[in-house]
Amino acid sequence: MKVLVINCGSSSLKYQLFDMNAESVLAKGLVERIGIDGSQIKHTKTGMEAVVKATPIPDHKVGIQLVLDALMDKGHGVLSSLDELSAVGHRVVHAGEKFSTSVKLDPQVMAALRECIPLAPLHNPANIMGIEAVTEVLPSVPQVAVFDTAFHQTMPEHAYIYGLPYGYYEKYKVRRYGFHGTSHYYVSRRAAEILDKPVERLKIVTCHLGNGSSITAVQGGRSIDTSMGFTPLAGVLMGTRCGDIDPALVAFIAQTEKLDIKDLDALLNKKSGLLGVSGLSSDLRDIEEAAAKGEPRSKLALAVLTYGIRKYIGAYAAAMGGIDALVFTAGVGENSILVRSMVCEGLEFLGVSIDQEKNKVRGKEADIGTSGSRVRVLVVPTNEELVIARDTKRLVAAD
Ligand code: AMP
Repeated sequence: MKVLVINCGSSSLKYQLFDMNAESVLAKGLVERIGIDGSQIKHTKTGMEAVVKATPIPDHKVGIQLVLDALMDKGHGVLSSLDELSAVGHRVVHAGEKFSTSVKLDPQVMAALRECIPLAPLHNPANIMGIEAVTEVLPSVPQVAVFDTAFHQTMPEHAYIYGLPYGYYEKYKVRRYGFHGTSHYYVSRRAAEILDKPVERLKIVTCHLGNGSSITAVQGGRSIDTSMGFTPLAGVLMGTRCGDIDPALVAFIAQTEKLDIKDLDALLNKKSGLLGVSGLSSDLRDIEEAAAKGEPRSKLALAVLTYGIRKYIGAYAAAMGGIDALVFTAGVGENSILVRSMVCEGLEFLGVSIDQEKNKVRGKEADIGTSGSRVRVLVVPTNEELVIARDTKRLVAAD
């Protein structure tokens, strides 16, 4: 069974084609600058060099057609006929409170996704465009939506209700939703497999640290709290997002700097975080390099980042009444030896102790705890695409 996984942004489209019998990736690629000058598709057949084709891509439908052409290409393609494609799985950011698991797409589900647009005005419209483009080009292929928010729908009320007038929750569904759910789900399950224990018996803190970062308390396999909130702006410091701040600062900055809502949004989402504190870069590699040379603001940015992560781990250990495993994933979590080391320093009281030699690992699964560490500390590369492909296969096969 072959499943195409699509992650559609407003001007980009990432894809991976899976052979689900072996759970292997046959090809993957990226369509960039859709609707913008300089658009192109970069396609890689597993085991071969990437092929880049620059061509006008005015909309997502043309983008999807190019993906299918690349998959069927005589030279670098992997399909001899589109009939081989059993299903398409889409990453969809927001399902509000409507879906707590992945769903097969039909007109009712599409209507529900449209209703969630106010909750994710940047992401859901792009995801919907991707689904509509596939529907036009491949009308008879079943499609599935896998949501970033779904895994967090198990949070108890006391974790997701904000201290605002309750009417805002009733009227506008203002509450904590959380994101990166597919990643937290995958790495918590994988951690349980590595530890050879049932996930139902574990208390795990999963740290998805990338350009966007979120930390989740996974108790008995269910998300019981997560650091992102109504939007992906909340939580720990990120590449360009501020994370948690005093909400009164929004009014203070607006008044003193004479900023309107749009400026404020850009300030908090695009000019803050590592970039804002360091004044140098949103990329952790640049920050690490400058900090190693003693640059004070980069050192400060690293300290703010790692202190914030450490506080969340402590908070979630308290929320779960203990912690059995700590998991690092995503670009920073999988690759930054320094961030992992700084985060774990001072967590010995919780039973976290890492082996500095074992911690010298990038981008692969590893247990980096000392043999005496009561809490297992794991690096687990995330694989959201595989979760999407598995859910797609399961839902399509269930018909
Ligand atoms: P993601 O959003 O998951 O792709 O993660 C992107 C982040 O991972 C960026 O801040 C990168 O600087 C960071 N990253 C990637 N590779 C490394 C590395 N070798 N060392 C430190 N940070 C890294």
